[in-house]
Amino acid sequence: MDDPENTDTDFARARVSFPGEEARLPWLAMLLDAYAIVDTGVAIAIKEQEEERGVKLACRKGCEACCTQSDIPVYPLELVGLYWFAAEKISGPERDTLKQNLIFHTKGRPCPFLMECACSVHAIRPVSCRQFNVFGEPCAPGEDPFFTRRDDVLTPVKAYTNRAFSVMLPFYDVKETTDEAVDRIINGEVINLQSFDWKKLVRTMEGYDSRNP
Ligand code: SF4
Ligand code: SF4
Repeated sequence: MDDPENTDTDFARARVSFPGEEARLPWLAMLLDAYAIVDTGVAIAIKEQEEERGVKLACRKGCEACCTQSDIPVYPLELVGLYWFAAEKISGPERDTLKQNLIFHTKGRPCPFLMECACSVHAIRPVSCRQFNVFGEPCAPGEDPFFTRRDDVLTPVKAYTNRAFSVMLPFYDVKETTDEAVDRIINGEVINLQSFDWKKLVRTMEGYDSRNP
C-alpha cells in the first residue's frame, strides 16, 4: 500500500487555495486538504493501473455521462462546501443558470452543477466525483461502467481515502482518527446528490444576493 506521508510535493500541487475564505471559514481548509489528498491518491492509482493493465484513462474534459448517474454520494462537509461555492463564488449568467438547474432538478436529470458539459463546482466537487475514473472507452450515455465493466473503473487507494476522511473528522466532532472512526463517517453520513432537495440552496444563494447587492 502506498504511504500517503510520502507525497508532500504532489499534495502541494493538488491543493486548491482560497486564502481569504479559509481564514474566515475553518472547515474550508480541512475540506481542501482532504480533496488534495484524494486527488493525490487518484493520480497515483491512475498511473499504477495504466502501467499494470496497459490501458489509458478515458476521462477527459467535456465527457459528462458520469454526471448523469443516479447515485452520487456526498458527505455533509462536502455539502457545506458546495453551498459555500455556489453562494459566494459563482456569478453572472452561470449563477442564473445554476439557480434554474437547482430549482428544476429531480432525480433522473443530470447533476444540477453540470453546465455546458463541465462541472461548475470543479474546485470543490465531491470525493465520489474525483475518484470515479474509467479506463479504455469513455462511458456511453446512460452507462454505469461499475456494472457494465467493473474492471475499467479505477480502484482508489484506500490509504488515501481514509487519510482524506480522517482530515475531515473534526468537522463531525469526532476526536479519534482511527480507520474505524473514518468508516463510521463513510458508512453513516452519506447523502445522494441526485436525491437532495436543491431548492434549499437556491434560497441560500438568494439570501447571499440580498446581503451583497
Ligand atoms: S467517468 Fe466516464 S463519463 Fe465520466 S469523464 Fe470518465 S469516461 Fe467520461
Ligand atoms: S459535482 Fe460536478 S463532477 Fe460531480 S456529478 Fe456534479 S457536475 Fe459532475
